[in-house]
Amino acid sequence: MVGPCIMGYGTAEQKAFYLPRILSGEDFWCQGYSEPGAGSDLASLQMRAEPDGDDYILNGSKIWTTHAQFANRMFCLVRTKFEGKPQQGITFLLLEMDAPGITVQPIITLAGDHEVNQVFFDDVARRQVRPDRRGEQGLDRRQIPARIRARRGLGARPESLPRPRPRHGRDRGRRRRSRLRRETGRRADRRRGHRD
Ligand SMILES: Cc1cc2nc3c(=O)[nH]c(=O)nc-3n(C[C@H](O)[C@H](O)[C@H](O)COP(=O)(O)OP(=O)(O)OC[C@H]3O[C@@H](n4cnc5c(N)ncnc54)[C@H](O)[C@@H]3O)c2cc1C
Repeated sequence: MVGPCIMGYGTAEQKAFYLPRILSGEDFWCQGYSEPGAGSDLASLQMRAEPDGDDYILNGSKIWTTHAQFANRMFCLVRTKFEGKPQQGITFLLLEMDAPGITVQPIITLAGDHEVNQVFFDDVARRQVRPDRRGEQGLDRRQIPARIRARRGLGARPESLPRPRPRHGRDRGRRRRSRLRRETGRRADRRRGHRD
């Protein structure tokens, strides 16, 4: 999910650093949007990221974070401005999960699975090791819709993403032929079954 966002809106450095690590599986990301008091209404999120020199000190909590126990990185939404409209002052940050002050607490579902977690941030110093901040002092409005579309499986489609190949007649013909082959195979199996 974070891949299409970086492809669409990241800097050249972010693309060069993060995208190969996503492809290789070296990085495993979790998504920090939901909070105990902010679900569908993301504008009510409260996790604070207070400026500290070049970077931020993070305090608050994220909840329902899928596979946070495995992730080495998190992309998340945090509040960097505390006055004005709640929709403004939200920043999209990329974090490293092994930063001191991050605690991942399992939430065990009724089925007994450990898939989701609550993640606590206690004075986490998020150091700016790479230029991986975007939309500071107000989320770049284009980011959230693209991310949510990607999450819903509809695909983010910033201009830089490749368009899906149109399905030409040749592809339709290939699909029809493979369907016919499957059908013919099934008929042959049925005939063999009768003989056996
Ligand atoms: C298995 C699982 C994994 C998840 N993983 C993650 C994750 O990795 N990261 C993450 O950030 N979140 C994750 N979530 C959280 C999930 O995306 C939230 O459930 C979601 O943000 C909704 O928040 P909520 O549960 O607080 O529901 P609420 O926002 O309280 O909504 C409750 C109900 O009210 C309805 N509703 C809310 N507002 C309105 C409105 N204005 N008008 C009409 N109806 C409304 C909703 O549709 C819903 O039916 C996960 C959830 C689940 C179940």
